[in-house]
Amino acid sequence: IKRIAVLTSGGDAPGMNAAIRATVRAGFFYNLEMYGIFRGYEGMIQNDIKKLESKHISHILERGGTILKSARSQEFRTPEGRKKAFENLQKHKIDGLVVIGGDGSLTGAHLFYKEFGIPAIGIPGTIDNDLAGTDLTVGFDTACNTAIEAIDKIRDTATSHDRLFFVEVMGRDAGFIAINAGIGSAAAATLIPEKKMPIERLVERLKARTKAMKQSNIVIIAEGGKSGGAAEIAEKIKKQLPYYDIKVTILGHLQRGGAPSSLDRVLASKLGVAAVEGLMQGKYDVMAGVINNKVVYTPIAKAIVGHKEVDEYDFHVVKILST
Ligand code: ATP
Repeated sequence: IKRIAVLTSGGDAPGMNAAIRATVRAGFFYNLEMYGIFRGYEGMIQNDIKKLESKHISHILERGGTILKSARSQEFRTPEGRKKAFENLQKHKIDGLVVIGGDGSLTGAHLFYKEFGIPAIGIPGTIDNDLAGTDLTVGFDTACNTAIEAIDKIRDTATSHDRLFFVEVMGRDAGFIAINAGIGSAAAATLIPEKKMPIERLVERLKARTKAMKQSNIVIIAEGGKSGGAAEIAEKIKKQLPYYDIKVTILGHLQRGGAPSSLDRVLASKLGVAAVEGLMQGKYDVMAGVINNKVVYTPIAKAIVGHKEVDEYDFHVVKILST
């Protein structure tokens, strides 16, 4: 391997820059030429590819977002699009690819490897934490910190006005951010897509808390829940809790921004180095992850199947602490 290109794809996540920096610096350490592909697979198709130098990656470790920009590319889902992308890599004589992104982006890398045999390795970069083969994905910890910090602020106003807040957090169809936010911000209840909580049970719990004279009530709702988002659930139960001033807050994209936490910086840095070393050792079509504090390489096909389960014990804790 002589020339490695790196890209970020799908939803951006804090720590992507730290992963880019580590990948590029590791490449320089091993005397490789490093390239940046802008706007993910879309940029690969449009030949938006530039040679990177040290100056391009200085002072990016601590910055949120991604200097390479990210995109969702419909064209890359087509064989013609992928062929164009491959031809562009050939033009630059790129013989290794590091893809930083979520399950969709890694699915793309897997297909690309199968079709063209270009050595590719993935780094899990998504706030959703929904990939197998790693305990944590880059961006998840920062997103949880951001959510918890926001909920602390909401609690101040909730307490002052005896309000009931429904706070919706991100995570697509996974409840990882919700469960962490639920535990970390002492939520009255936490609704995640992986577990059913009938609306009646939620109403009962909130009524019980009223009797217990709880000062504030915050319910965390994962965006991908089966009973609907925060607004829908609030609408469904408002008649049954007429004495509450019910408010809905959707945290939305603020969860994606901000400087990465220490944990995300360290994770991203380890995985950037691991990605380059993996490619040099002939580990292709795998994702670098960290399990029990050790770097592991998992076949992408395994990392993207379904998604990792929310830990039963975490769910147990959230239940006990919010009762
Ligand atoms: P996040 O989890 O943060 O949303 P993601 O990587 O899962 O990130 P997606 O939009 O699912 O985000 O995927 C990003 C891009 O990866 C897509 O726009 C597309 O270009 C490519 N991709 C996804 N799935 C496939 C597929 N089945 N075949 C080819 N390319 C794909």
